[in-house]
Amino acid sequence: MKNGKLVTPDEPTIPFIAGDGIGPEIWAAAKEVFDDAVEKAYGGAKKVNWLPLLAGEVAYKETGKWLPNETVDGLVDNLVGIKGPLTTPIGEGHRSINVTLRQKLDLYACFRPVKYYAGTPSPVTKPENVDIAVFRENTEDIYAGIDFEAGSAGAEDLMKLLENYDQADKVRFPHTSSFAIKPVSSEGSKRLVHAAIQYALDHDLKTVTLVHKGNIMKKTEGGFKKWGYSEATTFGNKVFSMNDYDKIAADQGKDVAEASLSKAKADGKVIINDCITDNFFQQALLHPENFDVVATMNLNGDYISDALAAQVGGIGIAPGGNINYQTGQAIFEATHGTAPQFAGQNKLNPTSLILSGAMMFDYIGWHEVADSIQSVVEDAISSGHVTEDFAHAIPGSVELGTKEFGSYLAGSI
Ligand code: NAD
Repeated sequence: MKNGKLVTPDEPTIPFIAGDGIGPEIWAAAKEVFDDAVEKAYGGAKKVNWLPLLAGEVAYKETGKWLPNETVDGLVDNLVGIKGPLTTPIGEGHRSINVTLRQKLDLYACFRPVKYYAGTPSPVTKPENVDIAVFRENTEDIYAGIDFEAGSAGAEDLMKLLENYDQADKVRFPHTSSFAIKPVSSEGSKRLVHAAIQYALDHDLKTVTLVHKGNIMKKTEGGFKKWGYSEATTFGNKVFSMNDYDKIAADQGKDVAEASLSKAKADGKVIINDCITDNFFQQALLHPENFDVVATMNLNGDYISDALAAQVGGIGIAPGGNINYQTGQAIFEATHGTAPQFAGQNKLNPTSLILSGAMMFDYIGWHEVADSIQSVVEDAISSGHVTEDFAHAIPGSVELGTKEFGSYLAGSI
């Protein structure tokens, strides 16, 4: 990073973690596409030195650690990396490595653009109306992992604390309840909302919607909304928020507020509004065209990005990046999991990781590479050259294995 901007050498070292389950297969397919796209874009003048790093099951077998220090150091030293999925046990065992990495490297924005690629089988009638950039807060909320099991000393102490604050009667079963803590801060909320608004401005988009459940969790999710609107004011007259609208309506009446909103739209300002999470889910299904950028908290963002991904054809093709826009540190990753039941079968779709790579090349300024990867993916799907997950739903399509799909894309660049 120099003066807040990423400066990419012609031969950057980019660390990668192949991942668990189907990870190594989709990584091999993706790497072939990346190398070909770079070679074709720059004819050898630029190239990536891929640095393999260990994490997950392979790391545990080889080093006894799920996330060796060398891996974290390799990611920090080289600033931008990419990874496949990693196993996380449910209910017991080690903490999610993905979550640990996001918190250790302070990758506060999980950026997941969701858009439709023509020809992709979808469960909705107008998937092409979905073109939504999701910015999910990535370092706090219930993902902090502060859990106290029912009956533990921590749970009992928490009950005592609640008694001191006259809140104990809100716990329906005080002796058999487990507890989790949901930290949400003004700093965490504001920097995430800032990234979302900046993205909308950079890409000439019309709206940023703050999605929250502030009607129930007034101080945490309600805080996110309040701090989000407060952050919007730092963009001055480039934006118009529904907070501005409410103030104008209170002072000068609804008609003046409506006129101000219409003028802001006509002037091309980004409109900042908000939506309660459950309502967002139905609105995004019924009228996805009303949303451009969504800024939301960690757990909401997890659900929302998978649900939107399903509308455009499933998590097999949804890409993502975990980014700290201040330090430049970033890890791009497939948004799906390890799909262990399919490991070693050369069947599943490597597109999520491939498009995550395209996002990474865009991020480091190698836009030609990003564009060519996106366009071969688009062409492959629209011409019916797909992996099994799509092939069964596209009559007359050519079903390719994971490896063969990667080679087909690489050969088409
Ligand atoms: P999963 O995403 O691994 O699989 C769910 C289903 O999605 C699969 O059965 C398959 O039908 C489909 N799917 C997944 N990847 C696909 C692909 N590339 N192409 C086509 N279809 C695909 O979710 P899970 O089974 O709930 O989780 C398995 C493991 O992955 C768990 O240990 C979980 O913690 C982990 N996980 C990791 C990440 C990550 O590393 N970022 C994310 C989610 C889950």
